Amino acid sequence: MDFLKYFENILMFFRLPIWRYLIYGIVFILIIVWLSFVYWTFRDARLRNTSAWFWALIVFLFNYLGLIIYLILRPPEYIEDVVERDLEIKRMEMLLSANFMRCPSCGKEIKDDFIICPNCRRKLKKTCISCDKPLNLEWKVCPYCKAEQ
Ligand SMILES: [Zn+2]
Ligand SMILES: [Zn+2]
Repeated sequence: MDFLKYFENILMFFRLPIWRYLIYGIVFILIIVWLSFVYWTFRDARLRNTSAWFWALIVFLFNYLGLIIYLILRPPEYIEDVVERDLEIKRMEMLLSANFMRCPSCGKEIKDDFIICPNCRRKLKKTCISCDKPLNLEWKVCPYCKAEQ
């Protein structure tokens, strides 16, 4: 009899409303965490320029499992990194091409010491009458040998 009474007391204890609230609380927290996963996946996928809605749906449906699959399959770099890297490459190309000038009439690349454009034959420089160095067309005297032009 004592045992039954004891058992009843345990049952009473677990029928207290506090257990129900506790379970509601846990479920509520799990839902919040779950939705955070979905939101995080959506944002991360968009930053990586991959299908954000698709991955958010996968995580919404499969929860932890979906998140793990996403973490394995997601592209390794953010879209900002890609843009940044492209800009860097463009900048390097600009620096490299800065050594070249362009022909004022045809726009083809020419070098600083070209006398004539190899493409359109435009005269770019004159040669010094004394030392044969390339001179700008408007120079009156050769800066290398002082010869009057
Ligand atoms: Zn030219
Ligand atoms: Zn000269």
